[in-house]
Amino acid sequence: MSDRYQAILLFGAPGAGKGTQGELLGNIPGFFHISTGDMFRTLDRHSELGKVFDSYSSRGELVPDEVTVDLWREYTKALTTLSKFKPRSDLLALDGIPRTVAQTEIIKQYVDVRGIVHLVAPSTEEMVARLQKRAMEQKRVDDAKIEVIRNRLDVYERETRPVLDQFDASIVHEVNALGTPAEVLGGILQVLAPIQASISELVAK
Ligand code: ADP
Repeated sequence: MSDRYQAILLFGAPGAGKGTQGELLGNIPGFFHISTGDMFRTLDRHSELGKVFDSYSSRGELVPDEVTVDLWREYTKALTTLSKFKPRSDLLALDGIPRTVAQTEIIKQYVDVRGIVHLVAPSTEEMVARLQKRAMEQKRVDDAKIEVIRNRLDVYERETRPVLDQFDASIVHEVNALGTPAEVLGGILQVLAPIQASISELVAK
């Protein structure tokens, strides 16, 4: 086994349901879910880093690569030290990182990506509607304005979608994002359960 974290990526446009699915997945033994959106939202909004996050996310822009990856590394290390994340037995489910080609290059030093779940969402309009609904429910400033939502979708197309080309097509699995949370989770587990089982065998040796 390599000493990099064994991981899978949850991938998809804003509004495709990564957050909901990541949380469900994180409740299954053997998966450890890290969402960089949640990581950023736990920052004190008055701290230096919190202000940096606010200034980008409120416009629907990505936080600069180096800041993001550095914080993600610290966060992951801290969770490991506290034995919440157990890299020897847990498969890391990364949600929201890498989001640019530059992040992908850095992350590959630390993470062995065993599979990618690409949540393929319905029409753009459907996603915009989902994001607006969530903004109302969760009081998320980044999704409250329609221009910000449109910008987030543009940024996804321009900066994040090319991340998929950085991986061997054989590990990228498309899963239908339309359906109930249970139905979508079913599609995801069809992909991930065999990957998890193959890694557990390696660990057991
Ligand atoms: P989404 O609803 O698109 O999944 P997230 O909750 O994952 O949004 O992220 C919220 C915000 O946090 C993003 O708009 C961005 O500003 C910032 N962010 C999260 N992950 C990253 C990342 N990997 N790189 C840069 N910025 C990020």
